[in-house]
Amino acid sequence: DELVSQIAAGEVVERPASVVRELVDNALDAGARAVVVRLAAGGVRSIVVEDDGCGIPVEELPLALKRHATSKIGSLGELEAVRTMGFRGEALAAIASVSEMAITSRTADAGHGWRVDARSGELQPAARAAGTTIEVQELFFSTPARRKFLKSEATELAHAVEAVRRHALARPDVGFAVWHEGRVVAQWRAAGIEQRLADVLGREFIAASRTLEVAAGPLMLAGRAGQPEAARNRTDLQYLFVNGRYVRDRLVSHAVRAAYEDQLHGSKQPAYALFLQIEPELVDVNVHPTKIEVRFRDGRAVHQAVQRAVVQTLAATRA
Ligand code: ADP
Ligand code: MG
Repeated sequence: DELVSQIAAGEVVERPASVVRELVDNALDAGARAVVVRLAAGGVRSIVVEDDGCGIPVEELPLALKRHATSKIGSLGELEAVRTMGFRGEALAAIASVSEMAITSRTADAGHGWRVDARSGELQPAARAAGTTIEVQELFFSTPARRKFLKSEATELAHAVEAVRRHALARPDVGFAVWHEGRVVAQWRAAGIEQRLADVLGREFIAASRTLEVAAGPLMLAGRAGQPEAARNRTDLQYLFVNGRYVRDRLVSHAVRAAYEDQLHGSKQPAYALFLQIEPELVDVNVHPTKIEVRFRDGRAVHQAVQRAVVQTLAATRA
């Protein structure tokens, strides 16, 4: 089972940023209003994620570390219409199999918190306000081959911050902070979406982009699309969220690129943050272990809606 977990870990955990993404997903699923991420050595030595969410009851603490033990999906029917960030129940088990992990958690109605060490399974009382802290130390310590693939500390840190930035864009109502070696490297206070977009993507992006909002049948598209200069020196200012989840999607990026070519006639780098809301039954998020890809039931409708909306936005920006 250790081996199975390590193989699963290979699919879910590529680098510190993947751990950060999974742990923040869990914090958000737990209803956190504030999430703090603390990293050491780019996250390779240590990743700590603290939240003020619902906590884990002590009797469920050992279960949280078991593969496919998820509290979020009760039936196959629910898998068809996932509303939480997590649902596969493999992240914690996978991460624990390639690190030293400990969970400290307290529910609102408990007298105190509990800490469980993943390796020994040992439980002990711990002081903590309601919420959960997950500590992940020495990532890939037992799998040196994987550890060798990690990049420099600065690169791993940048990826980890980017993972939190994506969550911050998806959830403006939640406060986020990232610390590295005892210093704040990113901080976003709870805000409205426009303010959060400005805080995360910068004033230049806001100045050179326009709000977009359209409804087309079962889908709603909102966000901002900008002139290429909105991206400034970033070639990767392209964010797509489907039902609050950051994803990469060829279909949507193709639709956006087609709109840019139509309006700007050239190989211009699109700059956008798009939030697509669609009936959960019309999109499959269980395509990839890291949930970074989705499959739309009606891809053609999505492509058309996105292309049209972006064409209109670009045309309006230039007018
Ligand atoms: P999944 O998110 O797919 O359910 P995970 O392995 O990520 O699976 O987490 C396992 C379980 O641990 C979750 O279903 C949840 O019950 C619990 N859990 C993990 N992190 C937290 C957290 N920060 N707050 C509350 N519960 C959590
Ligand atoms: Mg999860």
